[in-house]
Amino acid sequence: MFATEEVKRAVNKIAHADKVTVLTGAGMSVGSGIMPFRGKGGLWEKYDPEEAASIDSFNRDPRNSWGMLKEILQVVAKAKPNPGHFSLAKLEAMGVVNSVITQNIDGLHQEAGSKNVIEFHGNSRKVVCMGCRSQYPTTAIKLKPLPPYCPLCGGVLKPDVVFFGESIPKAALLQSQVEISQCQVVLVVGTSGMVDPAASLPEIARKKGALIVEVNPTRSHMTSMVTDVFLEGRSEQLLPLLADEVEITLRGKASSQQMRSSQAE
Ligand code: ZN
Repeated sequence: MFATEEVKRAVNKIAHADKVTVLTGAGMSVGSGIMPFRGKGGLWEKYDPEEAASIDSFNRDPRNSWGMLKEILQVVAKAKPNPGHFSLAKLEAMGVVNSVITQNIDGLHQEAGSKNVIEFHGNSRKVVCMGCRSQYPTTAIKLKPLPPYCPLCGGVLKPDVVFFGESIPKAALLQSQVEISQCQVVLVVGTSGMVDPAASLPEIARKKGALIVEVNPTRSHMTSMVTDVFLEGRSEQLLPLLADEVEITLRGKASSQQMRSSQAE
């Protein structure tokens, strides 16, 4: 599947770009057993997200919201990074990928070894006290009875994730805009590009001349609008292939440079 001229162009661009930014969404973690909440069999069939994960209803009735949150945290706690996560970490270690902007809250990019991760929606591995803003690792708190309370001040604890009705953390938003405006390639993985502000990032990059490469199991809202190269398939299968191709391209470049310098001697 990596034989077409278009894909070769993408691999070359990724291998030789000064800056590559990756944008990931729910599809990235499906291979780790975290089903998209909106999909079939998702938690959303059991709970109304606008209700259970909205900041208003959390403030009104934290015990009820925690019923759903507990289930999410348990799924996430068991999840391990998949080959897609490891491939992105490898590309970062090779100096190819600059940053990963993610809409996921599972912390699997960091667990796989990615260093420069910008989290749009926070991270479920921490909880924060609504009273004194103290933070705790989620694994350190008892989830019975619900809701959990802060041992310091007795305030209600909330997962450190962005709820409906809350805004994206300012630092994450600013940092992602810097990354997006400086990169030559945006690799979009496992996100349908329906929800702003993440949805508008590839478009901003494209206006500045970046190439948009999309990896998704099916064509998305983004495919016809901004995508230059569409790779159809699951990220845990395609990203390892892509990382290998990039590595081969870079190795070829290194050995031809070596040849040139030894000829010059
Ligand atoms: Zn507190």
